[in-house]
This record gives sequence, C-alpha cells and structure tokens, in this order.
Amino acid sequence: MTDPIIELRRASFGYTDRAVVQAADLAVHAGEVVAVLGPNGSGKSTLVRGLLGLNDHLGGEVRLFGQPRDSFHDHARLGYVPQRHTLSASVRATVEEIVAVGRLSHHRWWRPVVRSAQDVAIIDKALDVVGLSDRADADVSTLSGGQQRRVLIARALASNPDVLLMDEPTAGVDAANQHVLQTVLARLADRGTTMVIVTHELAALAGIVTRIVVVQGGHIAFDGTPDDFAAHRDGFGHDHHHHHHD
Ligand code: ADP
Ligand code: MG
Repeated sequence: MTDPIIELRRASFGYTDRAVVQAADLAVHAGEVVAVLGPNGSGKSTLVRGLLGLNDHLGGEVRLFGQPRDSFHDHARLGYVPQRHTLSASVRATVEEIVAVGRLSHHRWWRPVVRSAQDVAIIDKALDVVGLSDRADADVSTLSGGQQRRVLIARALASNPDVLLMDEPTAGVDAANQHVLQTVLARLADRGTTMVIVTHELAALAGIVTRIVVVQGGHIAFDGTPDDFAAHRDGFGHDHHHHHHD
C-alpha cells in the first residue's frame, strides 16, 4: 500500500502551550473523502490547521506524502479552504484573477502574472468545476458569499493539489449555493479527488463520503466507515443542535 497522504501519530496541536487536539492518530489515503464531524469548539479546525502547520504542533508526528511535515515543502500538493473565509470587500480583482493565484507556487499577495497556456487551461477547468465560467470576468466584490466560497475552492483546485482540505465549505451559504457546492464536491469525488471536509451537513454529503472522523473534546472519538457511523452514531451525541450559520 502506498504511504498515506496525511498521517498523524499521537499528534497534538494547539495555541502556545494549550493543547486543544490531543494525541490524534489519523491516516488519509489517496481517493478517500473524509468527513470531520463534531460539536463547535471540539477542535476540528485546530486539527486541520495543525496538520498544515498553521498552529502550534505540541507533540507527536505529522507526515505528509510519507515525509515528516518539517521536511515537506511541496505546499501546492495541499489545497486548503479555511473556515468562514470569503474575500475582503476591498479586494479589487476579477474571479479569474483570484483563481489564477492558485497557480503561484508559493504564498504571497496576488499580482498580475504572465500565464502559460497550461495555466489558462487549468484556471478555466477550475472555474468550470465550480460552475463560475460565466463569471470569470466579474469583479469578486459583486459575488455572494456562497459564490466567493466557490471562487476560493477554484483557487485551491488551480494549484492542482493532491488533497483538498475544506473547513465547513457550505456553512452560512444560502440554499441555492449550498446545492451548487454539494454538486461541486460530488464532482470532485467522482474525479477521485482526495478530500477532508469539516462539516455539520453530513446528510448533504451522503454518497461521497467514504470515511467519517468525529472529534470530541480534542480527541478523535470515532474513525470509521459511514455504515459503522450509522450503527454507532447515537453514541457520539451527533450535533443536530449545533447547527450554526456564520
Ligand atoms: P471547531 O473547529 O471544532 O469548532 P476549533 O478548533 O476552532 O473548534 O477550536 C477548538 C478550541 O480551540 C476552542 O476552545 C477554541 O476556543 C480554541 N481556539 C481556536 N482558535 C484559537 C486561537 N486562535 N487561539 C486560541 N485558542 C483558539
Ligand atoms: Mg471550526
């Protein structure tokens, strides 16, 4: 079997010296679509950010593509759409320009780039996948929050990642956009895209999720198939009452 794309061994993450996620074990393999569930404040975002190196790593091991994270530098292989992320109202750029940022191999503020034919093809494809081809030349400030979320998914796709990590991609999105986003995620799953999706909307992802991880109080309380989860879910106090819209 090939190395997992993401592997955590007793990994702890948090803020300064406060461990929020404690001794998590997790392995995500190519082609898996993992839903990460759990109550608000349980540590889902800290887990995802932690494995990306975006908050403090307080113990254990993180391996990406078979390498220790500290010696892994091919960040374009990991696409990340943060929670609650939309574009600042002050951003003056077209949809296409924002998606083109995904073609930059390292992080810096966007600026005009000379695009290769391959860049253009990948950008067009990403816009098509999220259903925004017809808005390519629109100013992003004219888009709804849900459409902006799709722009950010397209930007992540444009870097051709091997795995896409999305933190509550459908939260706070209106019903119409929610449906489009579900279709986008289903299409990505059909193409074999490996995904880790933090969500409160498991039902909406039924049929695409291959694995479910439940985070409770900073611990991985469940890790198994959707069938196992259905058989055990009463034991995890699944959070119907924690729906929130940001
Ligand atoms: P979830 O995504 O499951 O809602 P989070 O990972 O955002 O949970 O938060 C888990 C815990 O970490 C919470 O107690 C939260 O207050 C704390 N936390 C989150 N972000 C920060 C931060 N930037 N600094 C300090 N504590 C934080
Ligand atoms: Mg969160």
